[in-house]
Amino acid sequence: MIVILKQNAPKQKVEDLLGQLKGKGIGIHFSEGAHTTLFGLVGDVSKIDQEALEALDIVEAVKRVSEPYKLVNRKFHPEDTAVQVGGGKIGGGSFGVIAGPCSVESPEQIIGAAKRMKEAGAKFLRGGAFKPRTSPYAFRGLKAEGIELLLEAKRETGLPIVTELTSLRYIDLYSEVDVIQVGARNMQNFEMLSELGHCDKPILLKRGLSSTMEELLMSAEYIVSGGNPNVILCERGIRTFETATRNTLDISAIPLLKQKSHLPVIVDPSHASGIAALVPVLAKTAVVAGADGLMVEVHPNPPAALCDGAQSITPDTFDQVMEDVRTLCGLEGKAL
Ligand code: PEP
Ligand code: MN
Repeated sequence: MIVILKQNAPKQKVEDLLGQLKGKGIGIHFSEGAHTTLFGLVGDVSKIDQEALEALDIVEAVKRVSEPYKLVNRKFHPEDTAVQVGGGKIGGGSFGVIAGPCSVESPEQIIGAAKRMKEAGAKFLRGGAFKPRTSPYAFRGLKAEGIELLLEAKRETGLPIVTELTSLRYIDLYSEVDVIQVGARNMQNFEMLSELGHCDKPILLKRGLSSTMEELLMSAEYIVSGGNPNVILCERGIRTFETATRNTLDISAIPLLKQKSHLPVIVDPSHASGIAALVPVLAKTAVVAGADGLMVEVHPNPPAALCDGAQSITPDTFDQVMEDVRTLCGLEGKAL
């Protein structure tokens, strides 16, 4: 971090600031030029409040030269993190596919879907019990009953389950859930992130609708700094000026997040496009771009889905997606 001082900053105030920073264990590289005086902060500057420095009357500007996230930064942890999910893994060379309907609708629907996802070779089942919906009048999930049905589907098939937590109020219902999903709308619910830092379950952290990659990584840092290293990042499209698709899949985020962080990165082509016909090609694109996995919405009867039918693919289309993904990964005949 570089701090540029205002011209004619009173010497005493500069000394005070340097003393304060040194007191926090920060090393200082001071440089006094003819027109500009600046100093570089050396050491762990992750706890230095950039905005507080900028607000000081002797400071002209503050520039970061390193990332504000540390624990999720690949610089300090060069090896890939593989997150253990039930008996399977995502990341570190293990490709994982999470598939299932947008929401849990009935015992027949979720148990039928779970069996079909297993048959197609998916290792993990998704399904929303608590649904964040734009309209309060839309179907908002079966809630506690939905979790029960997911657990029944897990007992029937052995597939670990991934489901979204929309509020910390419901956390006690998630004791047997395998992966807790933090949805796009909660990516910056910092209370929730801190609390999930104390839990022993893997967290699937979806990118916020209008969040930068750095914001996504800072949210992951909340969870990891709380003590939970098992975070999977999910690129699910961001909001842009384009309205032809529900969101815009940010392909660059896949290699860039993997370059910046050691955490696994998966892609959700369903929410990224909102269009079922685009899901297979986006899924393949994600694999080519280096994703560690996919999260795909699959419904036994998409036109009858209570949520996100337009972006849900059929189980038969999913079979084809799985075959193509296996071919791309060189894992023919394997469950993913
Ligand atoms: C979901 O996966 O069910 C979901 C609501 O996705 P997102 O949070 O990415 O919109
Ligand atoms: Mn959905």
